[in-house]
Amino acid sequence: MTRSKQKNSRKVIARNQKGKKYIYFFGNGKADGHGKMKDILGGKGAGLAEMTRIGIPVPPGFTISTEVCRIFYENKKQIPINIVKSIDENLGRLEKITGKKFGDSADPLLVSVRSGSKFSMPGMMDTILNLGLNDRSIEGVGKKTGNPRFAWDAYRRFIQMFGSVVLRVGKGEFEKILEDIKHSYGVKQDVDLGIEALKETVVKYKELVKEKTRDNFPQDPVTQLYKAINAVFLSWNNPRAAFYRKQYGIPDDLGTAVNIQAMVFGNMGENSGTGVGFTRDPATGEKTLYAEYLMNAQGEDVVAGIRTPKQIYELEREMPAVYKELARTAKTLEKHFRDMQDFEFTIEEGKLYLLQTRSGKRTGIASGKVAYDMVKERLITKEEALLRVEPEHLEQFLFPIFNPVEKKNFKQITKGLAASPGAAAGRVALSAEAAVDMSKKGDRVILVRKETSPDDIHGMAASQGVLTARGGRTSHAAVVGRQMGKVCIVGSEEIVVDEENRSFRAGNVNVKEGDYISIDGFEGKVYLGDIPVFPSEVIQVIEGRLKPEESEKYIIFSTILSWADKVRRLGIRTNADIPTDAKVAVKFGAEGIGLCRTEHMFFAEDRIPLMQGMILAKTTKEREEFLDKLLPMQKEDFKGLFREMNGYPVTIRLLDPPLHEFLPRREELMVEIRELELGGGDPQLIEERRRLLARVEELHEFNPMLGFRGCRLGILMPEISRMQAQAIMEAACEIADEGVKVIPEIMVPLVGMLTEIKAQKDIIAEEAEKAISRYGKNIKYYVGTMIEVPRATITADEIAKEAEFFSFGTNDLTQTTFAFSRDDAGKFIRAYLGTKVTLNGKQVYILEKDPFSTIDIEGVGEFMRIAIEKGRKTRPNLKVGICGEHGGDPDSIEFCHNIGMNYVSCSPYRVPIARLSAARASLKGRSL
Ligand code: PEP
Ligand code: MG
Repeated sequence: MTRSKQKNSRKVIARNQKGKKYIYFFGNGKADGHGKMKDILGGKGAGLAEMTRIGIPVPPGFTISTEVCRIFYENKKQIPINIVKSIDENLGRLEKITGKKFGDSADPLLVSVRSGSKFSMPGMMDTILNLGLNDRSIEGVGKKTGNPRFAWDAYRRFIQMFGSVVLRVGKGEFEKILEDIKHSYGVKQDVDLGIEALKETVVKYKELVKEKTRDNFPQDPVTQLYKAINAVFLSWNNPRAAFYRKQYGIPDDLGTAVNIQAMVFGNMGENSGTGVGFTRDPATGEKTLYAEYLMNAQGEDVVAGIRTPKQIYELEREMPAVYKELARTAKTLEKHFRDMQDFEFTIEEGKLYLLQTRSGKRTGIASGKVAYDMVKERLITKEEALLRVEPEHLEQFLFPIFNPVEKKNFKQITKGLAASPGAAAGRVALSAEAAVDMSKKGDRVILVRKETSPDDIHGMAASQGVLTARGGRTSHAAVVGRQMGKVCIVGSEEIVVDEENRSFRAGNVNVKEGDYISIDGFEGKVYLGDIPVFPSEVIQVIEGRLKPEESEKYIIFSTILSWADKVRRLGIRTNADIPTDAKVAVKFGAEGIGLCRTEHMFFAEDRIPLMQGMILAKTTKEREEFLDKLLPMQKEDFKGLFREMNGYPVTIRLLDPPLHEFLPRREELMVEIRELELGGGDPQLIEERRRLLARVEELHEFNPMLGFRGCRLGILMPEISRMQAQAIMEAACEIADEGVKVIPEIMVPLVGMLTEIKAQKDIIAEEAEKAISRYGKNIKYYVGTMIEVPRATITADEIAKEAEFFSFGTNDLTQTTFAFSRDDAGKFIRAYLGTKVTLNGKQVYILEKDPFSTIDIEGVGEFMRIAIEKGRKTRPNLKVGICGEHGGDPDSIEFCHNIGMNYVSCSPYRVPIARLSAARASLKGRSL
């Protein structure tokens, strides 16, 4: 032993001698511990103590604290003598309270020894049942119960469990003996083994133990007990448990408690049984006792699914008194713990015992209903309800789901990144045009593309869902899919799209255009066939197809959100480009538009030729002619948005993407020209296509994301910004004439320098003043900027001299901070999320989260914090928002709240999630 270890060990002993409490007894309505002591007693121990205190029938026992586990490891894996003494004393108490003695030949005390740490780690650590049985006490159990078969079965189960868990004899070796015996007695099931067969099994088991451990199976119950306690402590560090902790971020030094509890048997005969239950339905949240049980069975029989359990209402018929007590107990548990409970019970010869209780896991729908009902029942406060309903829970109220029963009958063919949740099924369309045609014929459509580009929008709009082979969570398909509320899976790398043969391949499955597939946007799974879908009631109400008062789900959903609105500080806006999206967002509670991407308006069929003409123009004058034609169209778009937003602010961004996105692809043009030439096509047309090709080549960039885009477009071609500013301001004046209040906010994209925003602001101001004086309207408008490149964050104090508001474009800011291309990074980000490195002795992933989904607080987040601080130094009331995809992500929203942002903006369908997340961020801040 090293000197420091010796010192540590002495410290341990000294600490132990101060009369500190390590063991907590519970029984007969009294308990040393209570429910809030999960740190010390573990979840199970705390639950048992609390249940005992409130008079629920719990078999008596005691909990060895988690601290003993830590001492055990510090003390060379031994329990110090003073703690041993204390365990012995508590064992004595248990004997007294049960009136049974350990190892007694007439009526022995039998116990269970179970692990239980602060956080539930299901099945990761060890448990031993029926401890205390030996060659002598087995006779007593047989006589006392009048059921020697039961006694021998319990003994053979005990040797098997103790032998494998504590003595480390291979499980398979016991199983082999049991198989041989079943074979020699000609029976198939364990339950068919008679006493003689079981006795023979016990003999063979003991021989096996002797052979493997060179020792007899321990007959002394106290020895059995201490060996079992040691084994449970050791199981804290078994590889399975260690892995689980790492996976769920549970610290390694918490340790496990050990619960020693008098056994009760559900397999003592026909008036015994065992079961598991929930105080409410965990799938729907319905307030009804939801439990299953089996008569004459042990707990594991229910969970293992070998026998089909019965529904609890049958117990009402079979054992009405027990049923009544169980129902009453469930109510008491819920009232006391103030949450839906998941419990385990055993009936021993007609008497009910509770063996465990904890907060029950539930679906999103159930989570909402339980929280809502509990507020109405005055069991919890509205604030508590908001903290219990996770944003992901709320999401389940919105999206259609596959019929879970039917889903099992369909074959999964591949998977990808779950980019926009929900369930959709339809016929495969391999191009936007095909999607539109099929949908016109009344078909449901899933658009399957290698990747999508802005000119697929009409195809996406016509589809139920979108599946792409390429792209990450902020790829075009994902962004637009979410915005439109379409189910979307991206980056499904296995898929090979063969447009020529109108089919795609996923592994060895070939799917033709027109075949049915189903996509699950919650899990990113793709199925062959047409899985029936349930629509969401909330959406039906929003769309006016169902009356709000007719949908309980809608009432729950909207009430919870109204509670959220009372506590949140962040404003909630939406990213919307067209009035129909804006309308949905307002119905979901949006308080403004945080981003209107004007480029999406140019992709409409009647505009793209004008846009192309504008791009191809050789002179400014020629370009202005096309812009003049686009102007009235843009104006109408903006009027629609202003009208829909009815007094809420509307942030409109000037043109942002690289111009080549509006032009045909170079290779396609070359092929077209060649074909025209070979086929003797119209020379004028050929000439026109050649001109187009030349311009496409001129505009070609190796890295368009960092190229001629953003405010650079408006600075080099000011007439574009002029036209847009004019359209915005004229629209605002005309709408104000209709009596609608308008608050236009004009936003300049991709600014990195003060001079850039100044150059654009001058143009905007000029056009705005012209419109205002022409219409004679006093419209207050604002000019601000996107903050989406690092330089803008670092010079935010300068930029704020001109910018009247900031909106973080965290898609680009993440891209430029990491130097991760947002279109191509999916592949290696996925690898980073699964690759570990050792850091300060701990295994960590290279990336814990996808930074395009959740703000990278240390890097991108730090830039944001600096930008707000610097920006407000110049302009103390500077309004700051976010309009990148992160604006709809709960963790990112919490961060935005914490750094003092004014609002978040997200796609219409995420508005409710953002409202709830913002409220939770406020509440978490308060409880700090
Ligand atoms: C962003 O970069 O975060 C942003 C909102 O702009 P876009 O996604 O249109 O580039
Ligand atoms: Mg951007």
